[in-house]
Amino acid sequence: MHREKIISLLKEEGIEALFITSPANRRYLTGFTGSSGMVLLTETETYLFTDFRYTEQAMQEAPEVEVVESSHSPWDTIAEKLKHLGLSRVGFEREHVTVEMYDALPKGDGLQWIGTTHLVGRKLRPYKSPEEIAKIKRACALADEAFMHILSLIAPGVTERELALELKWFMEKHGADGTSFETIVASGDRGALPHGVASNKKIRAGELITFDFGALLDGYVSDITRTVAVGQIDQALLTIYDTVLRAQERALAGIRAGVRAREIDHLARSLIEEAGYGERFGHSTGHGLGLEVHEWPVLSGRSEAVLEDGMVVTVEPGIYVPGLGGVRIEDDVLVTQDGYELLTAAPKTLLVVG
Ligand code: ZN
Ligand code: ZN
Repeated sequence: MHREKIISLLKEEGIEALFITSPANRRYLTGFTGSSGMVLLTETETYLFTDFRYTEQAMQEAPEVEVVESSHSPWDTIAEKLKHLGLSRVGFEREHVTVEMYDALPKGDGLQWIGTTHLVGRKLRPYKSPEEIAKIKRACALADEAFMHILSLIAPGVTERELALELKWFMEKHGADGTSFETIVASGDRGALPHGVASNKKIRAGELITFDFGALLDGYVSDITRTVAVGQIDQALLTIYDTVLRAQERALAGIRAGVRAREIDHLARSLIEEAGYGERFGHSTGHGLGLEVHEWPVLSGRSEAVLEDGMVVTVEPGIYVPGLGGVRIEDDVLVTQDGYELLTAAPKTLLVVG
């Protein structure tokens, strides 16, 4: 993390330091992967407060920060450090601090706590470094491989859950630390559930199956959706598939630095509306991606965000028709100055399997 970025962030907010309690932001700013710790960012130094269980790990994983081992109560240690540094205006993360934590923040000595909102999540984390991009690419490549692997196992009679387990098994066997989120396998009329996590339903011929999943690898995630056909499917489903694919490709074609996120949403949504399925596309077109599966910006009609060089976002329109089924197609892309780089590469022409 470049110190200049942190300094300008603190200046903009009129604070001398920022106190970090979000686990993902802690990892982002320090590299420390342990599950307990808090961070204090000042203009010159990053302090990581953790306890005896993690001190050794923290010093190894976060060599550029000052690791402070807390003795009894972490709050006493933090209070001491704040006093020692003579800080008076310290920001905290409004969106991550619970009421209990807020009550515990050290008081007194002219110390003022200033509520900040999504500073790290919106001003730092959206702009991926080359190292982060490399990690996301590996997570995407692994998800692609898992998808290609699963194709040969799809057959009438197999359950959604078996396919989800196979995806997880494949990704973990090939280096993933886990899945990005609970794997969605939604077949037949369950495809109308945008977030239909894998169930015990058996796959049948004539159905579409939507797979939405990703790999967690080296802290970073991928998020891909593909919909495939099991044998011959109805014309109505073919039409939906074709519409979603055209909407997804249209939205992708609009991606480049300087474009409003809501414009990308509009490109996909207007095509789906014109095809008569406007009511059947009830979610936003995409979201940022990185250490977490849903990061800023959101690609929705209400978003004020502008896409910028180095952002990684998903593009995932869908159509969901109750009683019939659904289709969603999702890719992860790196926004560049004049376009985008596609990070997920599994085929998108309708694959007929089983
Ligand atoms: Zn997804
Ligand atoms: Zn997604």
